[in-house]
Amino acid sequence: MKTLKYDVVVIGGGPAGLAAALKARETVEKVAVLERNDELGGILNQCIHSGFGLHVFKEELTGPEYAQRFVDKTAETDIACYLNTMVIDITKDKQIVAMTEEGMQIFEAGAIVLAMGCRERTRGQIKIPGTRPAGIFTAGLAQRYVNLENFRPGSRVVILGSGDIGLIMARRLTLEGIKVMGVYELMPYANGLYRNIKNCLDDFGIPLHLSTTVTKIIGSQRIQAVEVSAVDDNLQPIPGTEEIVPCDTLLLSIGLIPENELSKKAGVELNPATNGPKVDNSLETSVEGIFACGNVLHVHDLVDQVTQEAQDAGQFAAAYVNNKKKVSAEQEEKDKAISVVPEGLVRYTVPSEIYPEKTPVVKIKFRVGRPENSGKILVTAGDQVLFESKKARKFVPSIMESVNIKADMLKSSCQEIKVTVKSEVD
Ligand SMILES: Cc1cc2nc3c(=O)[nH]c(=O)nc-3n(C[C@H](O)[C@H](O)[C@H](O)COP(=O)(O)OP(=O)(O)OC[C@H]3O[C@@H](n4cnc5c(N)ncnc54)[C@H](O)[C@@H]3O)c2cc1C
Repeated sequence: MKTLKYDVVVIGGGPAGLAAALKARETVEKVAVLERNDELGGILNQCIHSGFGLHVFKEELTGPEYAQRFVDKTAETDIACYLNTMVIDITKDKQIVAMTEEGMQIFEAGAIVLAMGCRERTRGQIKIPGTRPAGIFTAGLAQRYVNLENFRPGSRVVILGSGDIGLIMARRLTLEGIKVMGVYELMPYANGLYRNIKNCLDDFGIPLHLSTTVTKIIGSQRIQAVEVSAVDDNLQPIPGTEEIVPCDTLLLSIGLIPENELSKKAGVELNPATNGPKVDNSLETSVEGIFACGNVLHVHDLVDQVTQEAQDAGQFAAAYVNNKKKVSAEQEEKDKAISVVPEGLVRYTVPSEIYPEKTPVVKIKFRVGRPENSGKILVTAGDQVLFESKKARKFVPSIMESVNIKADMLKSSCQEIKVTVKSEVD
């Protein structure tokens, strides 16, 4: 097996991988991107709708246009991009085993950036009862069929889940002349961005049924209908509320899971709340020299946020290689990590631990677990208030929040900080 050596190897050539590679290349000589597909750009290649780039480029781009900007920038550098290259293993000493066009190869890396994106949850994960006919797709797969392969998934579609992908597909299918019977959402609130509810459902007269779920799949060869039921406060179907909705296609938009098989193989500890790796404030995982960013770390709402996070990961990975900011093992032991604890409404935080000497500013991202109409972000270390928002506002699970803390505010005695959203209506 051939062994190739690089300073930084990035796994995944989506927006996260490309942004990380470009940033790392600013300070190290040899950078490689390993991508299993035959092109760079990741999932954005199939997202032909607009709405990308408002933050990073201050203009509205389609997914392929946004991705192309990074593909073009990468082409101007000597970053080695290995396409059709599937990484199958990572060892703790940072050896990467990949199946490439030239056979199996080993990549030796000074630092690794994990940027493998995420995958969609399927029927099996939510255990919908009923038969197992054809015509049940994840929303992203249907998006690929319609936008890239020119296939029509069906004629009458029910969508389960009001995440952004489901909403975008409701509009896309309608534009293709396919009847969308309705979007059904288990929770009492929509899971997608407000702009997508408005632009993708309301503008096309597609009904959104909250607190409702699919309780049975009906059909033998091809799906013929679904049974939907209202759910109670404990999200359990209410007997007597069943309704049959005829359809020949069911699209599932029921959440995304970070693609973490490789992370596990590398021995990286995962955060059960995000299913992505646990990282510190330099986006370093529990395995020294392995960093993570983008949807493999935690699912983002906007690609712009992915780009910004990935640039940080690329910079930290390069700094690790250059040994500039690396905290020595003894130092790390002395300055025990400060835990970041999500409290109350806050479902998770990234990072989950902080080494104050690693970054001057600690960027904390988090999501709430349920909506709050009027709340304030509060970050505390014991009695010390590190951050409190000035004004109360609305919080929803579909929008990722962030707060920055200056590392020098964290006292050496501090062992944990708490992040919460304080309700102002109590
Ligand atoms: C359907 C859909 C609609 C969206 N709509 C919007 C929108 O309107 N606006 C917006 O801002 N954002 C939107 N997003 C979100 C945005 O696209 C993502 O946040 C972004 O693409 C994530 O980037 P990433 O690089 O982390 O992951 P990805 O784009 O998924 O890239 C990961 C890459 O890693 C590769 N990979 C995985 N495993 C391996 C392996 N073992 N070996 C080699 N390569 C590997 C994959 O092939 C892929 O190319 C949407 C996402 C989806 C899925």
